[in-house]
Amino acid sequence: MRRIVSARVADRTTADDLVQETLVRVLAATARVEPGMLEPYAIVTARNVVASMWQERDRHRRNQHRVVDLRAPEDPGTDLLAREERTAIARALERLSERERQTLLAHEVSGQDTRSLAAELGTTAGAVAAQLNRTRARLRVEYLLALERTEPPTDRCRPVLLALSSGDRRRQREVDAGRHLLECDPCARLSEPLMGRGQQRDDLTRIPIHRDGDIVAARQGARDLATRLRFSRTDLTVISTAVSEVARNIVRFAGAGEIVVELLEAPRRGIRVTARDTGPGIPDLEQALTDGYSTYHGLGLGLPGARRLMDEFAIVSEAGRGTTVTMTKWRQEG
Ligand SMILES: [Zn+2]
Repeated sequence: MRRIVSARVADRTTADDLVQETLVRVLAATARVEPGMLEPYAIVTARNVVASMWQERDRHRRNQHRVVDLRAPEDPGTDLLAREERTAIARALERLSERERQTLLAHEVSGQDTRSLAAELGTTAGAVAAQLNRTRARLRVEYLLALERTEPPTDRCRPVLLALSSGDRRRQREVDAGRHLLECDPCARLSEPLMGRGQQRDDLTRIPIHRDGDIVAARQGARDLATRLRFSRTDLTVISTAVSEVARNIVRFAGAGEIVVELLEAPRRGIRVTARDTGPGIPDLEQALTDGYSTYHGLGLGLPGARRLMDEFAIVSEAGRGTTVTMTKWRQEG
C-alpha cells in the first residue's frame, strides 16, 4: 500500500495519512471480503483513497467557483448533489424487476414487515428477508452506476459488483472478484463505496458536525451507544461530556467535520470516538492540550478536559488539512 501511495503522492506526511486511511478501510471490510481477494482489494483501495483525495481538492475548487457563478442563495452545491442523487435512485429503481421493486418499496417506504409480505407472496419471512438483502445489494450497484453515469465495460462487471455489494464471499470467489478488480478500473473505483461506506453498522454512529446543535446530537449519539455496553451512569456522563468537547472544538475552530462513535467488543469492551475536521489545523498541539489554555474564553473544558476524561487520547493535526482526535473509554469489568 505504501508503495502504491508513494508512487502517486510525493509529500511524505500526506502519504502516511493515506496509507493509514487505506488500512482503516481495508480492515473495516475484512469480514466481507474473501481471503484471496484481500490483497487486490487493498491495492485498489489504496488507489481509490489517493484518487478521492485529488477529487476532494478539485471539488473544493469547483464549488468555490459555483458559488460565485450562480450567485445562488444558501448552498447550491448541496442542492445540485441532492438532485443528482434523486435521479440516480430513480434510475437504479428502474433497473430492478417489478417484483423486487414492489417488495422493497412496501418494506422500506410503507413499512410492511417481512411476515405479512411473506403471506402475500406465498413464501417464508426468511426468504423475503434474503430477497430484500439481494435487492438492496443490487440497488446499491445500480445506484452507483447511475451516479457515475457509466455502463460497466464487460459482462463480468455486474456479477462482480453484486458479489461485493452483498458481501457474499463464496460468490466473490466464484466470479474471481479479486482478479477482476485489478483488471477493471470502473469496478475497482466502485468497490470501495460498495463495501466500505455503503455498509450499515449498528455498532457505529456517524454525526456530521457543522453547528452548535450538532454538538448535542453527537453527545446523545455517543450516550445512546455507550448505554448498550452498560457503562456506569458516571461513565456515560464522562463520555458524552468528552464528546461534546471535541464536537465544540470542531464547530469553533474548523467549522465542519464529523464525529464517529463506535463500540469495541473484543478483546476489550469500550467505546471509541473519532473526531475529524478539515479545518486549519492546530499550530501548537502542546499548548492546545495545556490545562487552562482556553480559546473558548472560559466556555467548556476544551481538549485538555476531554483528554482527562477518557482513558486514551490521541490527536493528529496538520496545518491546512485538519485535525483528528481519537479517544477511547474502556468499560470497567466486574
Ligand atoms: Zn468490471
